[in-house]
Amino acid sequence: MSDYKHIMPPNEGERIAIGDNGELKVPDHPIIPFIEGDGTGPDIWKASRHVFDETVRKVYGGKRKIAWMEIYAGEKSLSVYGKDQWLPAETLEAIKEFKVAIKGPLTTPVGGGIRSINVALRQELDLYACVRPVRWFPGVPAPVKEPQKLNVTIFRENTEDVYSGIEFDANTPEAAELIAWVKSKLPKKTVRADSAVGVKPVSAFGSQRLVARAIRFAIEKKLPVVTLVHKGNIMKFTEGGFMKWGYEIAKKEFGDQVVLESELAEKYGGKKPEGKVLVQDRIADAMFQQLLLRPDEYSVIATLNLNGDYLSDACAAQVGGLGLAPGANIGDRAAVFEATHGTAPKYAGLDKINPGSVILSGVMMFQHLGWDEAADRIVDALGKTISGGTVTYDLARQMEGATEVKCSEFGKRIAEAV
Ligand code: NAP
Repeated sequence: MSDYKHIMPPNEGERIAIGDNGELKVPDHPIIPFIEGDGTGPDIWKASRHVFDETVRKVYGGKRKIAWMEIYAGEKSLSVYGKDQWLPAETLEAIKEFKVAIKGPLTTPVGGGIRSINVALRQELDLYACVRPVRWFPGVPAPVKEPQKLNVTIFRENTEDVYSGIEFDANTPEAAELIAWVKSKLPKKTVRADSAVGVKPVSAFGSQRLVARAIRFAIEKKLPVVTLVHKGNIMKFTEGGFMKWGYEIAKKEFGDQVVLESELAEKYGGKKPEGKVLVQDRIADAMFQQLLLRPDEYSVIATLNLNGDYLSDACAAQVGGLGLAPGANIGDRAAVFEATHGTAPKYAGLDKINPGSVILSGVMMFQHLGWDEAADRIVDALGKTISGGTVTYDLARQMEGATEVKCSEFGKRIAEAV
């Protein structure tokens, strides 16, 4: 094991490894690094960890156990490592070494040229898939009539697209140079001289590894359909490329396990053959309508960075908001599971906030480890606790007759219900 300055690996437990074919090799006592997070992070983490430990104890009766290892980022890291150490090198090193980590929300430092810690983590570890499952839990107030019909997992490409950070401010020499170059190549196009300009890189490599991960997930979880969401009707080479490369990898890597939408009518009389995953595509704007009007026709969505950002929040809102929305950033060499909301600083230390987002991120982590029994039991227990009317303030204020409990109490009730 590497030598760390401030991280203390636990005495017991073993490292998770990655095999030659990219498969995870998970020991019964894996060491898992955690970042508790800023603001309300410590409250949420404590409640969530209790749920995780109790679940593993109940489900595996001592055969399996997680050896937690604290690593640091955000404000706590400043007190451990010193000034400006928002994301110490050994934190990244530890995630690389131990392969799977979980984190609470982190404060984004404002000003001073410091990047978002979350973005830095994704880039440094090449966590190219942002995975967000969205489903409704009975009892949770939602703005639509039939929230139970939405149950999707969104795979959002995390490293490319207009989020790659290649842009130039208006009226700079760089912008002027780029505008002049575009004019020389595309004389009929007009880019106004006072434009800020950005570059939208979308590669075959980046698109295909993301789509392949989404299809593999659908196959493993026996889900019926993967939808590639894009604006290829307008952005033919970038968004259109994503679709084209997506279909290519579907055929090449999963040929006998998938059926493409274009083959359905011709080869299968319009009906998806049993046991195969349908791979289809939808234009992004139409997809927003579809998810509201016919949500039950979708199960896995693979899309580019910007579309995915919008779609995941829209879907989360549809089933009752961000308090219960988990997420993960996954690459081939590491995965980090995280709450999707921020640090909610006004509630820090009040033991008040909803820990559901981190608890459900833990569910994703258990699924990633192949500990599906633990994952299923937590989802079941969380569902029962909410539908029984025991909830934190955010849900209590919208649910008639609910009993409001503190963050820690909510965790305890869930652990009891496992
Ligand atoms: P926020 O922390 O998500 O909180 C905004 C509001 O959302 C809260 O005041 C609360 O609403 C509600 N909320 C958030 N999490 C909740 C939970 N677990 N349970 C119940 N309600 C919850 O957004 P912010 O205030 O814009 O951001 C604060 C800090 O977090 C910033 O530094 C930001 O950069 C950072 N951030 C980090 C991440 C991350 O680490 N992944 C993500 C986003 C933002 P009510 O006031 O209505 O109760």
